[in-house]
Amino acid sequence: MQEALFEMPEAAGAPLSRAISEMHLAYGVKVDRRCGDCMYFIRYHQSTRWAKCSRTRQTGGSVTEWRAHWSACGLFRDQRV
Ligand code: SF4
Repeated sequence: MQEALFEMPEAAGAPLSRAISEMHLAYGVKVDRRCGDCMYFIRYHQSTRWAKCSRTRQTGGSVTEWRAHWSACGLFRDQRV
């Protein structure tokens, strides 16, 4: 029996965005960590709030907005360290 290469815990719930799926495929998944705790997760506060991952392609649009609850990818670096 072949084991799954990457665990994707959100797969059973809401579909992941293409952007985070690509990060998981490229770098693997850290199932015990969340993007919101990663030093590459950048929060913006203006008239609204949004977040981006600084390690991937960014646009001015919502398609590259990031979610704190997403499972981290293999590039995860703890922002508290
Ligand atoms: S873990 Fe960090 S580098 Fe990886 S996708 Fe999330 S915010 Fe980006």
